[in-house]
Amino acid sequence: MFAVRSLAVKHGGSRALLRSAYTRGMPRSLVTGGAGFLGSHLCDSLIASGHSVICLDNLFTGNRQNIAHLDGKRGFTFVHHDVVHPFDFDVDYIWNMACPAAPGHYRYEPVKTMMTSVLGALHSLQLAHRTGARLLHASTSEVYGDPEVHPQPESYRGNVNPIGPRACYDEGKRAAETLCFDYRRMHGTSIKVVRIFNTYGPRMHPYDGRVVSNFIRQAVGGEALTIFGDGSQTRSFCYVDDLVAGFRLMMDSREDFTGPVNMGNPHEFTMLELAHAVARDAGCTAQIEHRALPMDDPLQRQPDITLAQRELGWSSTINIEEGIPRTIEWFRTIRLADYPPPSPNVMQPETQAK
Ligand code: NAD
Ligand code: UDP
Repeated sequence: MFAVRSLAVKHGGSRALLRSAYTRGMPRSLVTGGAGFLGSHLCDSLIASGHSVICLDNLFTGNRQNIAHLDGKRGFTFVHHDVVHPFDFDVDYIWNMACPAAPGHYRYEPVKTMMTSVLGALHSLQLAHRTGARLLHASTSEVYGDPEVHPQPESYRGNVNPIGPRACYDEGKRAAETLCFDYRRMHGTSIKVVRIFNTYGPRMHPYDGRVVSNFIRQAVGGEALTIFGDGSQTRSFCYVDDLVAGFRLMMDSREDFTGPVNMGNPHEFTMLELAHAVARDAGCTAQIEHRALPMDDPLQRQPDITLAQRELGWSSTINIEEGIPRTIEWFRTIRLADYPPPSPNVMQPETQAK
């Protein structure tokens, strides 16, 4: 087991160093997947509000650059570790973000993806049970699969193909939710389950194959924007700052509000509309290149956020007219060579006509 003690050993052989991470009086947070897109923004928010933070990551899709600005900050510690193996820290809050999220990445090693989702949740729950920490688990709108109900409320049980190419992620996330609720029923573990809908912003991996990062990278680089299918499929995109604010509200919500709760921006548009918006904001003419639609690609997805609004007073506030230019700005500041693709992005091999 990866223990608090080994953290001290790894970081200089004494518990004094560890104590500097666990600075007295500071709330203690563990963020699994903390070097990723969402995790790194969450670490920023926690450090800014006085938490000590252990950022645990195996750096599969995450990147040290995402957290480089936090190195040396009071209370911040990075631990290189894989959540398929148990871990042990004295913490008050666990934020379980670890899991590749982009289809091209999670399909690269599907068995590992499912293990990351299931064992990562199990090990986080075991730690929460041992320490009495509260756990927020990052679930996903993918638990709804290709939905027949629109928009999707939390009560909708989903339409997931259990043997399709997205199943390693979708079913892994469904099983992780099951574990959370069984721990709650069996041990009274304090859980908070958030079903995240598509989120975007600075620090998305430029080669994660997701639509926003693809379109922006292509537009900034003067390439044609790749639209899968005819571009009539819809999504709704939430800006990362809104989501992190939602995470913080959810973690601090009353004990008996476990979720699952949807978080996302309900404003829905087609991928064709998105392509034109990105091209406009990047100041280029939209050249479109159509590619085959990936298998099991949901036709539409839109969160019903009534529950989050009612229970947490949360809703998204940043629309794409504001969020896309901010994300483009970040893409213009990075060197793509610093972000090598974590996987060959196996998005396309199984396609279907819809
Ligand atoms: P990301 O790929 O940027 O971040 C995931 C992080 O987890 C990375 O830093 C990666 O290196 C790390 N990781 C992966 N496997 C690991 C393992 N076995 N052990 C330790 N670390 C591991 O993705 P993200 O967009 O930041 O997603 C974070 C979480 O939110 C994921 O659980 C994802 O399923 C969920 N989510 C994200 C979105 C979204 O739109 N971004 C939507 C729904 C759900
Ligand atoms: N998509 C696209 N062009 C791309 C990447 C994705 O048209 O370069 C489409 C994809 O087929 C899907 C939508 O955009 O219909 C959102 O894809 P993404 O992978 O970002 O998220 P998800 O499918 O998980 O919602």
